[in-house]
Amino acid sequence: MPPTPTALPKVKISPRGATRLKDGHVWVYRSDIVSAEGVPPGSLVSVADHRGKPLGTALYSSSSQIAIRMISTDPVADFPALLRQRIADAIAYRESVVHNTDAYRLIFSEADFLPGLIADRYNDILSLQILTQAMDAEPVRQAVISELATRLHPAAIIERVDPRVRELETLPPRASGLLHGEKTATTFAMNGIQFSFDAFEGQKTGAFLDQRENYAAAAQYAHGDALDVFCYQGGFALHLAPRCAQVTGVDSSRPALEVADQNAALNRRDNQPEIEWIEANAFDLLKDYASTKRQYDTIVLDPPTFAKTKRDLDAALRGYKELNLRALKMLRPGGILVTCSCSYHVSQSNFLEMLSSSAIDAHRTLRLLEVRGQAKDHPILLNVPETAYLKCVVASVSN
Ligand code: SAH
Repeated sequence: MPPTPTALPKVKISPRGATRLKDGHVWVYRSDIVSAEGVPPGSLVSVADHRGKPLGTALYSSSSQIAIRMISTDPVADFPALLRQRIADAIAYRESVVHNTDAYRLIFSEADFLPGLIADRYNDILSLQILTQAMDAEPVRQAVISELATRLHPAAIIERVDPRVRELETLPPRASGLLHGEKTATTFAMNGIQFSFDAFEGQKTGAFLDQRENYAAAAQYAHGDALDVFCYQGGFALHLAPRCAQVTGVDSSRPALEVADQNAALNRRDNQPEIEWIEANAFDLLKDYASTKRQYDTIVLDPPTFAKTKRDLDAALRGYKELNLRALKMLRPGGILVTCSCSYHVSQSNFLEMLSSSAIDAHRTLRLLEVRGQAKDHPILLNVPETAYLKCVVASVSN
């Protein structure tokens, strides 16, 4: 006999919220909640439209503007069992789409129907981010840790905490730390390039795994003198080095450049150029280099998010344009521009428009070689546009 579902707290949503769910989205905003009296923070809830028609089961947040994140269109009797199944499915999906690496995103929140949970694998260390009240509950944490440990046998599982996220979710403060095992440093490989990893250092969970396939794509076209702007720990620069005569990486973060240099040492070969790392503000440096008429054959631009909200869009596009315009002026004929944006609020068409207007102002012709997105271990759910955020355009530049 199937287990009898325990009665879940009920949340009623507006017709607009219900239409959003019918269109395949999984979020309902607080402004579309009709009633949620007495629903405890972070609880599993059953969702109904304003007439009481059941729409499925969701995770509830008492503080986020995203009040509801759907996890199923059916009733859910045993949440930990569902979590375990979803984790197994997420791992199986990566087995089919990830190649040539031991570092990739295992679980990507909504895109794996595990909203609020992110897990990245760096060789034998797993790094978790817990982003919502529901995923922070102790039984949920225990189910996640035990499922990952049993399936993947990692040397360690660690948690990276973003204090701002916990504050927004009104969760008590908590430190980053080990959840399983003891190991906190390792090395990992992508596309045959080695990287060192320290679980409690760096941005995100350590590396920009979403760029992994773009590194390999950029390397295919790279040649001559190369400049990797916003290089962080050297992801692009290290991939370009085997193809280029000279490589320079630029970033404003000294700790990131120190890791970049360690990574360069791990990959040093006699027939490859030594990479030069420069600590600088990229905007100032590009301005300087452009005015002294420096020339390159390959330039990578991978800045941080410029548009944190929709309201930042115009300012963000001006920032991208300044960078791209300068880079285009510095590329020799036949040069390669690899230009990225990780801002969700800048759409692919916004980004391509910015690039075409930069090309006109720089008096250059661009041939698009590749219009790319995030690596396949960061799945895009077609009906949840927020899951698609990274743009990476590779273009050949002529006069
Ligand atoms: N290309 C990298 C990821 C870049 S993330 C990779 O593939 O791993 C963005 C980087 O921009 C961060 O390392 C951050 O330190 C750097 N950054 C932010 N503002 C900067 C600025 N004004 N000048 C130079 N670097 C900057």
